[in-house]
Amino acid sequence: MAKIFALNEGCFSVDASKKFIPFNADIHHSKDRPASLFIHVQPFLIETQQDLILIDAGLGFNNEMDTLILHNNIRKAGFEPEDVSLVLLSHLHFDHIGGLIFKTSSFGDSRLSFTHADYIIQENEWNVAYTQASKSYNTTILDILHRSGNIRFVNGNGNLTDDISFNITGGHCEWHQVFLIKDGDEQIFFGGDILPEPEQILRRFLAKYDFDPKKAMLLREEYAKKAADEGWTCLFYHAKDKPISKIGFDGNHFNIY
Ligand SMILES: [Zn+2]
Repeated sequence: MAKIFALNEGCFSVDASKKFIPFNADIHHSKDRPASLFIHVQPFLIETQQDLILIDAGLGFNNEMDTLILHNNIRKAGFEPEDVSLVLLSHLHFDHIGGLIFKTSSFGDSRLSFTHADYIIQENEWNVAYTQASKSYNTTILDILHRSGNIRFVNGNGNLTDDISFNITGGHCEWHQVFLIKDGDEQIFFGGDILPEPEQILRRFLAKYDFDPKKAMLLREEYAKKAADEGWTCLFYHAKDKPISKIGFDGNHFNIY
């Protein structure tokens, strides 16, 4: 059985500026953050027979000890950042790649967070990040990754290994991809921002943050049904709770367990 860890980075508010501001319900008040969405962020770490896999990388905030929260969470799970062999990226929006680099007060320059990993990126998504004038992308991070990281561009649908497959979905952004990881009898599905929160499966809605809201809505339903059919373990990147769960479907209604 694969070991799966949800690496919770925290809750954040986001307004039209697309800046993510840490939000701690114990000390902050939502009324002080007008016209904001509140978003939880958690990358995932999966230990399989072959690899230590990180899926998406969070925002890249440091904790009060000036350590990258992502690094700290990986250590708490019992690994070192250098142990990560594969970084799977669903897409390159800022909230999914911020933790690929880090900076501390003891060294001022930004450094690559995972020096021994291959980075799996859709090539078209990379090109969009550099050509589209969008606040959702941050090419400074990508420049550092390009200079110091071992990027493996992929195109379309395919298999990375016998056990890891990737599929283009579009919907959230044009070249968004999802991953399915097989480990023994278990199938682990990462839907990125196509299946970001378990609650989103329970109602139909159009989201204006999606590139193609209608398609994204239909994809949520399609993947939720597949996940229920196949008994996939689903990883929800923006979940408030139950980030690792399964989906049930009785023909009419979904449930999360
Ligand atoms: Zn996201």
